[in-house]
Parts: sequence; C-alpha cells; structure tokens
Amino acid sequence: MNAILQCLCSISPLVEYFLSGKYITALQKDCSEVATAFAYVMTDMWLGDSECVSPEIFRSAFGNLYPAFMKKTQQDAQEFLIYVLNELHESLKKCHRKSCEKGSIPRCCRKTIANEVSIITQLFEGQLNYSIMCLKCENCTYKNEVFTILCLPIPSDYECSLQDCLQCFFQQDTLTWHNQIHCSFCETKQETAVRASISKAPKVIIFHLKRFDILGTMKRKLRTDIHYPLTNLDLSPYICPVFRKHPKYNLCAVVNHFGDLDGGHYTAFCKNSVTQAWYSFDDTRVSEIPDTSVQTATAYLLFYSCQPFSIPIKKCKS
Ligand SMILES: [Zn+2]
Repeated sequence: MNAILQCLCSISPLVEYFLSGKYITALQKDCSEVATAFAYVMTDMWLGDSECVSPEIFRSAFGNLYPAFMKKTQQDAQEFLIYVLNELHESLKKCHRKSCEKGSIPRCCRKTIANEVSIITQLFEGQLNYSIMCLKCENCTYKNEVFTILCLPIPSDYECSLQDCLQCFFQQDTLTWHNQIHCSFCETKQETAVRASISKAPKVIIFHLKRFDILGTMKRKLRTDIHYPLTNLDLSPYICPVFRKHPKYNLCAVVNHFGDLDGGHYTAFCKNSVTQAWYSFDDTRVSEIPDTSVQTATAYLLFYSCQPFSIPIKKCKS
C-alpha cells in the first residue's frame, strides 16, 4: 500500500488536483470516504509539518470497502492499484451525455467516448484499438478497449528491454484452432490476425511487468533484468498516427517487488517534481538515490508521464 501511495503522490497533476481542493466539488456524496482519506494523505505528505505521515485513515477507509485489504495477508500491488484508481474514479466521476466526434478521424481510430469522466480517466485512461482481420477473405473489423494499466509480457528469462516487452505486446497475433473468430463475410469461424495499437495515449501510462508467470500448475517469478529508460521512452511505433501528440514519455515512479510468489516486499522509487531528485521509499525508510540506481531488476510497475505535464482540461479533445 505504501509503495502505491508514494507513486500516486508523486504524479504532479494528481497532486495538484487534490491540493487545490478541486476534488471537493467532484465528490459523489454516497462514496466519498476513500477519496477524502486519500486527499488527507496527499495534503499531509505535501503540505504537512510532520516528518512522517501515517496512511492509517486511508487504510481503514479502504479496508471498510474492501475487507480483503484489511487482513495482514500478502496482496498484489498491481491489484491494489486497480482498486484504488477505480475507487477514486467512482468517487470523483462526472457524467457527460454525448461528446463531439470529429468526422476527420479515420474509422480505425475513432474513440468510443466514455461518458464518465474523472481526474483518473483524464490522467490514466488510454484506449487500445484492435484490428481483427479474417485471413481467408481479408475482411477487417475494429474493436476499441480502454485501459488504465498495460500488462506487458516479458519475452526473456534473463535480460531484455522495455521496448522488447512493448514489441511483444503489440505484435500481430494469429488466432488458430479453437481461438478462431467468426467472420461476418465468410459466415464461419476463420483464422484471424489480431493487432493492437494505442488509439488514445494516456497522460500517465502505467506498465505492469508480468513477472508472475503461471503456466497450468507451474508458477514462477521471472527475475528478468528489464532495461527501461528514465527519459524519452518513445511510444510512437505503437500509437495510431493521428494520435501521436506526445509520444515521448519520462519515468516518474517505479514499484519494486522483492521475494517470491508466496511472499515478498514492495518498495517505490519516485521522482520529486519539485527537487527533480529520485527517492527510494521503503515504508519508514526514505533516502535520496542517484538516477543510476533507478534501473533495477526488481521493477514491477512503471509509471511514465508524457511531457509537458499540464493541468488536465475539461473539454473533450481527441
Ligand atoms: Zn472472412
């Protein structure tokens, strides 16, 4: 929990949103406890006088809703992050009826407009576009899917780069045998080629490195040393051309996992947006670390933000 909270508390537009009090007007009356507790933690961390902050109020508010996280059992940081983002979204969302849709956008990249908007969707929500091609008649259909975390496969047991993981995720997949998809032209199931691309790149993109590998009854943790850049991660090869606005991303936080499948420990590395220095957060132990220490083989979640970091706007812009 601490590792995830530290990462979220280092995402400057999210910090700005809570510290400025903007969240108060968005709060949904019936589910505001977790978001309010989150705002308190954020405020204490950035504006408080104490040297240390206890997230106890947040923990109990969150535990009331999700009792599994109240127990002192091992939990997955990625799962916890999904629950936190989802809960904040539910507490802070606004419903919009219908939004504009530009005629100039090609069919393959048109957005399915989400009708619920929150600071969470504005910062973290992206969209994948799947092109699905029948290999017999070459008829192509498209499907959109929103995401807040991209779960990346790790193509090596020993050493690879984040770009290798991304390439693996975005490569074309051929669906054969029992995975065949029904083609509306052929009117039967056919072998199909599926390829994903990003049709909406989020301002903050979160990568989940799939270190926990489960193959039938075989479970193992991949300890692959994955090299990831601190600056200028180029996502343009995976983004639909019309949406390549800010394809360069900079690392702003990392969650590390030590240990095995059955038990372990999480720490975080976060870049402070004011001092521009990196810090290591290990529960009560906090220390400044050099940039060269940010790359480790323990990385489990990576938070990248696109530059420039601007305050999210309300208008619907593709
Ligand atoms: Zn077909």
